[in-house]
Amino acid sequence: MPADLRFDAVIAGAGPAGSTTALRLARAGFHVALVDHQHFPRFKPCGEFMSPECLTMLDDLGVGGDLRALGAREVRGMVLHGHGRQARGQFADVGAVAAPFEHGWAVRREVFDDVLLRAALRTGGVQLFEGVRATGLLRGDRGQVTGLAARRPCGETIALRAPLTIGADGLRSRIARELGVQRTVPWLDKLALTTRYSGVDWGGSAEVHFFEGGYFACTAVEGGIVSLNLVLDRALYVGAGLPRDAALEAWLSRVPALGERLARGRRVDPVRGIGPLAGRTTQQTFDGAALVGDACGYVDPVTGEGIFFALKGAEMLSQSAIAALHAGRVDRASLRDYARGRRREIVPRVAFASLLQRGLRHPRLVRSALGLLESRPELVDVLVSVTGDYVPLRELARPRVWWSALYPSGGRARRQRASA
Ligand SMILES: Cc1cc2nc3c(=O)[nH]c(=O)nc-3n(C[C@H](O)[C@H](O)[C@H](O)COP(=O)(O)OP(=O)(O)OC[C@H]3O[C@@H](n4cnc5c(N)ncnc54)[C@H](O)[C@@H]3O)c2cc1C
Repeated sequence: MPADLRFDAVIAGAGPAGSTTALRLARAGFHVALVDHQHFPRFKPCGEFMSPECLTMLDDLGVGGDLRALGAREVRGMVLHGHGRQARGQFADVGAVAAPFEHGWAVRREVFDDVLLRAALRTGGVQLFEGVRATGLLRGDRGQVTGLAARRPCGETIALRAPLTIGADGLRSRIARELGVQRTVPWLDKLALTTRYSGVDWGGSAEVHFFEGGYFACTAVEGGIVSLNLVLDRALYVGAGLPRDAALEAWLSRVPALGERLARGRRVDPVRGIGPLAGRTTQQTFDGAALVGDACGYVDPVTGEGIFFALKGAEMLSQSAIAALHAGRVDRASLRDYARGRRREIVPRVAFASLLQRGLRHPRLVRSALGLLESRPELVDVLVSVTGDYVPLRELARPRVWWSALYPSGGRARRQRASA
């Protein structure tokens, strides 16, 4: 007879989206099951950069101090390289919006995710099922979701029942698939290779190096380690027919400015691959269930916003869920504020990142854009600050934002520029 356990909420996936949803629900007094098939601390392929707006949320979650103490590395801006151009931007005030912090952070994901998970467990309201895989959904007589079927490492199946089930199980979400809402995005068919280096001299910015068919995104994390991600059209990688290590070296040799700097250090991690990356969902709220974080769909790492979407999504979902659980009715209608919040805060940013992705497919456009940005640093600040997640996209509709970026009065020029 399988174990049958009852909670207020059951969450599949203990990454940033799952852990912080669990933490917020537990803080509100609810009893939460948090299920992850991996054991923590665990590695997650990622550029490991988080935007300034994340810092506000991390302080609110009570983990900002822990991350500072662990040496979270400040990232003061972004340098965009490609086609012989270089454009440097920093997190700045844009229009009427002040930067909450002049920097984001970079922390290794095995450290970051573990800090979030431990904070959730410290609430006393979260029961962790580590090494346990969510295998399916439980349904009630009206078809509503009533919990998760899961499998322990020993093979035992368990039923975790709750009025609310949350799919926070990442890019290839089992829960989204079971709900029938996953779709592929064929034109965004990419994969990523990730690794890390020590002993590389690095400044205070994240860097993106564009080339035809892909880009390298890299930043220094705590302890002076440099985290490197190569994101490529999958067809290019498959066509090259190289093993991962050789593929990384081959593409690094096409970006000598980066390759030569990294070669002065030492690679300290294996080259890991992840992909295909593309995916989206057609719906995120259901009777008795919701999706959050990457389970909602693929977020291209080019703008480094996936962690923000996970944290922000968790914040908005938990607000809706707390009200719905208190009212004793968890259905699609009672979760509509979450759906609206996603449409307001997340969907436009995903669309903006998609637009950038489309632009990156045209090398001449990239070359011209980088040329313009190189000569107008204030425009790079606007771009970098928007992807820093504290500037709402609607702010870009104000002519004075563009006016002051194109015709600066010297405000920025007077400021000391952060070192690259
Ligand atoms: C190459 C690359 C670089 C990136 N760089 C950045 C960056 O620099 N900055 C940024 O903000 N974002 C970046 N992102 C995006 C970011 O990594 C994700 O958006 C973020 O991790 C989403 O968090 P999450 O909690 O939704 O999912 P995840 O962090 O993926 O967590 C999902 C969890 O679910 C668990 N799980 C999966 N299936 C099951 C199952 N069946 N049962 C139980 N548990 C399960 C997994 O073990 C995992 O722990 C990058 C992504 C990629 C691919």
